[in-house]
Amino acid sequence: MRKKTQYFILYSIICLIASLLTAGCGKPVLHKETRMLMGTMVSVEIVGNSSEAVALITEKVWAEAARLESVFSRYRPDSEISRINREAGKHPVPVSDEMIKVLSRAEDISRITEGAFDISVGPLMEIWGFFPQRKGRVPSDEEVASSMARVGWQAIELDRPAGTIQFAKMGMEIDLGALAKGYVVDRLVELLRKEGIDSAMVNAGGDIYCLGDNPGGRNWRIGIEHPRDEGEILTVLELKNRAVATSGDYRNYFIKSRLRYSHIIDPRTGRPARSKVVEVSVMAPDCMTADALATSMFVIGASNGINLLKEIEDVDGVIVTKEEDDIKLHFSDESIEPRRRRDRGEK
Ligand code: AMP
Ligand code: MG
Repeated sequence: MRKKTQYFILYSIICLIASLLTAGCGKPVLHKETRMLMGTMVSVEIVGNSSEAVALITEKVWAEAARLESVFSRYRPDSEISRINREAGKHPVPVSDEMIKVLSRAEDISRITEGAFDISVGPLMEIWGFFPQRKGRVPSDEEVASSMARVGWQAIELDRPAGTIQFAKMGMEIDLGALAKGYVVDRLVELLRKEGIDSAMVNAGGDIYCLGDNPGGRNWRIGIEHPRDEGEILTVLELKNRAVATSGDYRNYFIKSRLRYSHIIDPRTGRPARSKVVEVSVMAPDCMTADALATSMFVIGASNGINLLKEIEDVDGVIVTKEEDDIKLHFSDESIEPRRRRDRGEK
């Protein structure tokens, strides 16, 4: 009799646990959606408990992405960045808190890269034919010199207590193309967290944040593509609660007289960066930092770039160089190299 009672209690407990699991949780679903935003493909993958709930959250994500586009897009005359570019040469312009956040991070990165990162490259992007249309052209030396007179990150005067921005030189234009996408990814991930999501991946044209585990319960694995051989994967990075941003000279470029001109400009020369770097992926706790640093590495070059990545806490990266046909990978830390490469003792 006592044994029967014990069995009954055990059976009841098992039933209770099973019903709680099925009623409250259900089987996790992976919901993936992709949209064209900010001139790039943005994809959101969410692991959640019900497709309806996850679909609702995804709608909120798209609404937030559209709002951010209306702040940071240089293609929209009514955006905050367009207003700054029109007016900050004439008088101090009030800016939003989030614009201050992005401008402050840009200033930090300019400082630590000694000016290799410089959001005031706007006028140079125009003469090299990367903005507003993509119709690459090689400007004359005079054009480069006259645009250079309107470039310089130290001439961006950010008054944080007053919440305003002013340009110290007339005709300056800022371009947030190197870090705004990363900022957008961070905001979307913050929204997902607030909605109770603890497993997701947000990817805005190669700027990625991996939240929690992948659907298989492991770290997310991000393939770094070959810069010249589309579809081939050079290496794989593993991430959890971390961002990775990739910049490449194969995304936005033109070729003239067999020379490749990419959209990352060396602010010291006023010309597209000429280091041997062809691709960079930087991992950081937030995507805006990863994005800005990845762009910077093109200007800094591989060996100084690796040294800088080693110096910055909680940041790592892989820089890909190309000399003739020789593609080389430079890792800032061997712990991020895929195990097979390390076991083979490859450099
Ligand atoms: P990304 O694709 O993140 O590497 O950013 C490239 C974009 O950053 C370009 O299209 C420009 O809008 C902008 N940019 C180009 N050169 C620089 C630079 N030296 N510092 C900061 N932003 C830059
Ligand atoms: Mg970038």
